[in-house]
Amino acid sequence: MTDGARLATQPGVRPREAATHCPYCALQCGMVLRQTAGRVEVTPRDFPTNRGGLCQKGWTAADLLDHPDRLTTPLLRDRPGGELRPASWDEALDRITGGLRAIQERHGRDAVAVFGGGGLTNEKAYALGKFARVALGTRHIDYNGRWCMSSAAAAGMRAFGVDRGLPFPLADLGRADTLLLVGANPAETMPPLMRHLADQRARGGRLIVVDPRLTATARQADLHLQPLPGTDLAVANALLHIALTEGWLDRAYVADRTTGFDEVRRTVAGCWPAEAERLSGVPVADLEATARALSTVDRAVILTARGAEQHAKGVDTVTAFINLALALGLPGRPGSGYGCLTGQGNGQGGREHGQKADQLPGYRRIDDPAAREHVAEVWGVDPAALPGPGVPAYQLLDSLGTTHGPRALLVFGSNPVVSAPRAARVESRLRDLDLLVVADFLRSETADLADVVLPVAQWAEEDGTMTNLEGRVLRRRALREPPPGVRTDLAVLAALAARLDAPGAFPADPAAVFEELRRASAGGPADYAGVSWDRIDADTGVFWPCPDEDGPDTPRLFADRFPTPDGRARFRAVTHRPAAEPVCADYPLHLTTGRVLAHYQSGAQTRRVAALRRAAPGAFVELHPDLAGRLGVAEGEEVRVVSRRGELRAPARLSPAIRPDTVFAPFHWPGAARANSVTNDAVDPVSGMPEFKICAVRVERA
Ligand code: SF4
Repeated sequence: MTDGARLATQPGVRPREAATHCPYCALQCGMVLRQTAGRVEVTPRDFPTNRGGLCQKGWTAADLLDHPDRLTTPLLRDRPGGELRPASWDEALDRITGGLRAIQERHGRDAVAVFGGGGLTNEKAYALGKFARVALGTRHIDYNGRWCMSSAAAAGMRAFGVDRGLPFPLADLGRADTLLLVGANPAETMPPLMRHLADQRARGGRLIVVDPRLTATARQADLHLQPLPGTDLAVANALLHIALTEGWLDRAYVADRTTGFDEVRRTVAGCWPAEAERLSGVPVADLEATARALSTVDRAVILTARGAEQHAKGVDTVTAFINLALALGLPGRPGSGYGCLTGQGNGQGGREHGQKADQLPGYRRIDDPAAREHVAEVWGVDPAALPGPGVPAYQLLDSLGTTHGPRALLVFGSNPVVSAPRAARVESRLRDLDLLVVADFLRSETADLADVVLPVAQWAEEDGTMTNLEGRVLRRRALREPPPGVRTDLAVLAALAARLDAPGAFPADPAAVFEELRRASAGGPADYAGVSWDRIDADTGVFWPCPDEDGPDTPRLFADRFPTPDGRARFRAVTHRPAAEPVCADYPLHLTTGRVLAHYQSGAQTRRVAALRRAAPGAFVELHPDLAGRLGVAEGEEVRVVSRRGELRAPARLSPAIRPDTVFAPFHWPGAARANSVTNDAVDPVSGMPEFKICAVRVERA
């Protein structure tokens, strides 16, 4: 029996210890929580992903459980512009359901929208999707995972017929002779993952990092390619061009396991390395060294993350790296392959069970008649009553309060006022709503705008499951009950569904929700039918697909075939195109955005943790000393970063680690330092992912 199971099955009302996982990123590091007098202690737990490590966010995660900012009563705003005031749950729920009914009677079912989050458990993501489609009858639901993984998800579906971030266990990274990381900085975003990279290096493996900044990860690399943001696609095609020219392809693999290579071959034949150097700034010699390092070893892994994805051509960029991996015969071979490093804690599971505008549980398509019939039967409703697909997150947020957009929005586990692109516009749209409801455990910047705020439980106060970056389903275990006045998200959805006289059942018990999720996902691409809480407890999680409780799970995908109709992976020819917003005389620099070690996403949680605030007290703008010299900017001096959409103000941080034509700003802070006041809302046409990673700006002394 595992440590997790032993702790989870102690007799008594609630254990004084719980073996669970960190609430933050997709690494889902194992940890043990202990309730001691007056506080909850966090200690790392040996788990295959973190191997006993935690980053400072994980170590301090329990600081928010009894934080003075914790919401413990519903809040109501009586009139626009008025203050939020404490209210009873009955009053708050009545206000919500009364408002929703009135809006839908006047404007139709789709006048109400739901916005979820990649941190919600599988049970909550599933229940939220069902609540939107069944209780509200609206097609409008999407979530902030659209900001994080949607381009790799779409590219994976297109090429492999399935979207699982890593199609192999994380430990495989340690076996790779060459590891290429594209737009990923795990040394800052998920530090314990570096233990796997240390294994790889110790075995003599090479690490190559592609990033416009010399990040903490890039500093550890054998080779750092430092392209202009938005040119990764050109780099990938040039790498494939070199491999083609040198005869390094795995011809048998391409012939036996793939389709569509001829068109890719024709396309990349014209993608000259010298042209890639002109576009990206990466020297041809480095491109050649990278192609050789990937092509002439037994095992190679290519991983992409947000740096490659968060572009208006993110799907094609990821596709270009998948093309490279397929041409070298990597996917499906132990210690080799292509994968995406998922960001948010349940970014993977959150996109599998119905939070996405076009999906039903089990990664089924909502426009597939057979999928609708299956899920409708589990839900006890007529398939014809299920709405059709909605629209991706930014399109949804940008339509709020407009003539044809939703008039009410329910937000669970997200803070779009800080995290959405072109955030001032999104904030204005939220203000135009007739009803904004936010369920959260802290008063986020989005909650500050709400008409109703509902106080909900934190991760240590609820049971459930999460699916990590490997597609491994894990158990989240409660240490204690929520404080008085606080309800779980599932209890909130159950209460709202009851007040709305929704058909079907909306259990508040996460175990019951998971049992229903198993049935709803059965037969779908992300099949959880064979996953049970007991089975997870008995081992270190269960990898989907797992269709049969007595059958095996699937740590490695693609060994024999790809889950496409003909069992083959699909090449797709893609070509470089410029960023949506080119630089010009007025906006001559590129802005790229990202995260820092001490903070997580919109920062609503980590900005409130004293140790993390001390470690990273505020925003900054990173710029090269040469650029600073030209602008007359000194270290620490406040600068304005101005784009066509707005500006941010923060102190300058001078660093030779960044290209002189590019500036970097972290996106964790609100107000004047909000990076997303500046970012571009251009989106990828396939995935709907916004172009967070590049826009045209000028930088001025403030
Ligand atoms: S934030 Fe991520 S890397 Fe850090 S402890 Fe939590 S799960 Fe692990």
